[in-house]
Amino acid sequence: MEKKILVTRSSMPGFEEYCEEIRELWDSRWITNNGAKHRLLEQRLKEYLNTPNITLFTNGHLALENVIEAMELPKGGEVITTPFTFASTTHAIVRSGLTPVFCDIKRSDYTIDENLIEGLITDKTCAILPVHVYGNICNVEAIQSIAERHSLRVIYDAAHSFGVTYRGVSTANFGDASMFSFHATKVFHTIEGGAVCCRDEKLAKKLGYIKNFGIDGPESTPYIGGNAKMNEFQAAMGICNLRRLSDEISGRKAVTERYISRLSGGNGIILCHDPPFVNKNYAYFPVAFEPESFGADRNRVFDALAEHNIGARKYFYPLTSAFECYTGQFAPESTPVALDVSRKVLTLPLYADLGMEDADRICDIILSCKSSI
Ligand SMILES: *Cc1c(COP(=O)(O)O)cnc(C)c1O
Repeated sequence: MEKKILVTRSSMPGFEEYCEEIRELWDSRWITNNGAKHRLLEQRLKEYLNTPNITLFTNGHLALENVIEAMELPKGGEVITTPFTFASTTHAIVRSGLTPVFCDIKRSDYTIDENLIEGLITDKTCAILPVHVYGNICNVEAIQSIAERHSLRVIYDAAHSFGVTYRGVSTANFGDASMFSFHATKVFHTIEGGAVCCRDEKLAKKLGYIKNFGIDGPESTPYIGGNAKMNEFQAAMGICNLRRLSDEISGRKAVTERYISRLSGGNGIILCHDPPFVNKNYAYFPVAFEPESFGADRNRVFDALAEHNIGARKYFYPLTSAFECYTGQFAPESTPVALDVSRKVLTLPLYADLGMEDADRICDIILSCKSSI
């Protein structure tokens, strides 16, 4: 049996390092509710992301639901978004009583096609919720000017883009708010976790209340909040992982460069374009296969890798607009590029300590599919 390789592998601090980080929790017995580790992680992340306000959450999905709630978008309002994303993005809109309106994506980087947004605006549109998918940054300038022209809020699903900068500015700073996920599979993680970054201090304060039952003190509860707080053990994991983040990113960069050198220029193999002025985080390595020119389709490549115990992922397939739970509500054909890409794309295993031999073996298997037809 060949060594099993999964699509991702959580980065972990040294065991001793984590134990040292959580030691004081045994003395303080303060293990959640804005404790010392939570406050320290908040401070470190503010500096790292260079953002004026950050609110930490128990996971990214609740961060997204909470920021939508905090903005008080009108019930039944329409939110322009893309179906080429993880379930969370679309579910957060629907679970908030809003209607997703799906905009197509660009072939160059799979982010929302900003040229199609205005054609989808109606008198019910209240917000745009684009995704920096795979860490590829959306056209934030165009989206901002559309939002200003039509008085729309912009919430970025920045779950994939922790550490990415555009013209030196981190993706925490675009739109009205940005949501990050610190799930174990992400470039930076707190086991489970998430955050919302925003410029508006009032919004950040409100998020602080509604993630903790709307409570503002022993005898004051101004909001109808839920519970979405990050605990101290999560925060401690984040503090440790932040120390090693630059190593994590440079390890991923090395694997990515190997993939690019082995796969680029191959007939029918489509890689993402590297946009100018962007520092990447190497969160994912998506490859699209054009069956006519490559000689094999995505599913054939997926199966060939699986036969060798290598877990690539059909990420994102199917489109969220094609989920069973939304049967009859949306038309996946209305976003033809997203639909086409979802049938052709595969994300390859990517993590800092994936060895070069393994990256080469993965490329060999992929390239062998070509000749097998
Ligand atoms: C991971 C992810 C989320 C949800 O984050 P969790 O921390 O897992 O709740 C949302 N959107 C996208 C695009 C994601 O990849």
